[in-house]
Amino acid sequence: MTMHLTRRQLLQRAGVAGALSALSSNPVMAELIRAPRLIPWRNWSGAQTCLPEARLAPKDLDELVQVIGQAPGKIRAVGSGHSFSALVPTDGTLLSLSNFTGLLSHDSKTLQAEFGAGTPMSRMGTALKAVGQALNNMADIDYQTLAGAISTSTHGTGKGFQSYSGYVAGLQLVTAQGDVLECDSTHNPEVFNAARVSLGALGVVSKIRMQNREAYRLREHQWIAKTEELLEDVEKNTRENQHWEMLVVTHSDYALSMTLNETTEPATPPISADEEGGNEFVTLIEKLDKYVSDFPEARSVLLNNMRHLANFDDRIGESYEIYANVRTVRFNEMEYSVPAEHGPACLREIIKLITDKDLRTWFPIEYRYVKADDIALSMFEGRDSCSISVHQHYQMDHHNFFAAVEPIFWKYAGRPHWGKLHTLNARNLQALYPRWQEFQQVRRELDPNGKFLNAHLSSILGVN
Ligand SMILES: Cc1cc2nc3c(=O)[nH]c(=O)nc-3n(C[C@H](O)[C@H](O)[C@H](O)COP(=O)(O)OP(=O)(O)OC[C@H]3O[C@@H](n4cnc5c(N)ncnc54)[C@H](O)[C@@H]3O)c2cc1C
Repeated sequence: MTMHLTRRQLLQRAGVAGALSALSSNPVMAELIRAPRLIPWRNWSGAQTCLPEARLAPKDLDELVQVIGQAPGKIRAVGSGHSFSALVPTDGTLLSLSNFTGLLSHDSKTLQAEFGAGTPMSRMGTALKAVGQALNNMADIDYQTLAGAISTSTHGTGKGFQSYSGYVAGLQLVTAQGDVLECDSTHNPEVFNAARVSLGALGVVSKIRMQNREAYRLREHQWIAKTEELLEDVEKNTRENQHWEMLVVTHSDYALSMTLNETTEPATPPISADEEGGNEFVTLIEKLDKYVSDFPEARSVLLNNMRHLANFDDRIGESYEIYANVRTVRFNEMEYSVPAEHGPACLREIIKLITDKDLRTWFPIEYRYVKADDIALSMFEGRDSCSISVHQHYQMDHHNFFAAVEPIFWKYAGRPHWGKLHTLNARNLQALYPRWQEFQQVRRELDPNGKFLNAHLSSILGVN
């Protein structure tokens, strides 16, 4: 194959080659050129970055065990980098399970299925559908990996549904000593309980067996209503719908209310990301903020009238197609889960604060419900919860806004989402988790030298 270069490209290449040969005659520079090139890592929102010494993706279990045994410094497992908090950054080894993917086995009687831990959630729906199964519930995006999602008790909405971690029936964990532990409710039960929400602090999860259900279709219905009326109807909305949530439009009186319910009706035609109701809605609000944020009264009149512009058709499709949204606008996020009964009061206080102080924000507040579980570090341990999240566009400063809202969550004994931004440390967190010590004990036994820690984990777990 012949390669055609323009005169400019030729000159540029000749220049680079000349410069490199001059540098390599200098011994210090020659060493630098030979040194491995560090590749920076950053999370989805861009707020977390690091420059790991090594970025490795073992090809199988033997190689994973070797890497864990031989890596000289700290190790952090990474999924798809969709956590907002600093769970992943390390200057040691960043370990990806991108070669541990796909459906490994399934059981039609128990409706359980085992996946490689690095499987992106977006690939699980079709694989499960092919064997007649589906996940019980899903979050509002499916870009996460399965291991990443369970490590932070990632959740969707629905009073009758737990987070992904609640549906883990078994998992395989590779420890700091290189042991491969098979864990479920009868084998290594203490480790199993802790590892279902581990923040990557116990070792590297290599396989996960999920308790599923038979495949199903969902109907999505969306409408705009007054936030206060939706709050008054919370009991009815959550009782009459399998999945209900709302996106509260700040600086307005309205919210987008959404329900998902099982149906046997045929699927509606697929729609593109641009047509997708939630994105259309967010784009409209973003534009309004750009032009009228300096005129609060005009802004609220326009926002209140926006409901006349938005039009939402019901969508029907396979469950995994309906749960997941496409998020085209980047943001940072803080989310706390408060006891379910405090949800409305907590949300009202946040809305009042934003309005009274005219806090600059335009991303809607997300308001969801999650069922209690029994996992030591799950945000939902021992209590039915209401999860409330505030967001800020990734180019706008989130620190002041989140700092103003966060004390309201504390007032209602909120537990911060492990994968989202917050300022709590171990001292505050242990008071919120009755089974805190159970997790700590398992961590101490499995990783006495803190191979799987980084600065953020040391702070939130209170260990060095
Ligand atoms: C646009 C967007 C939407 C979101 N929506 C939701 C939502 O609806 N509900 C919700 O609850 N959260 C939501 N989140 C948060 C997100 O689900 C969590 O932060 C999740 O943990 C990210 O998964 P990940 O695969 O990107 O993992 P990462 O962020 O890469 O890692 C998360 C944690 O998992 C650990 N980990 C990863 N792989 C392994 C492994 N193999 N073994 C051991 N530990 C491992 C990491 O060390 C880290 O501690 C959202 C985030 C974004 C950016």
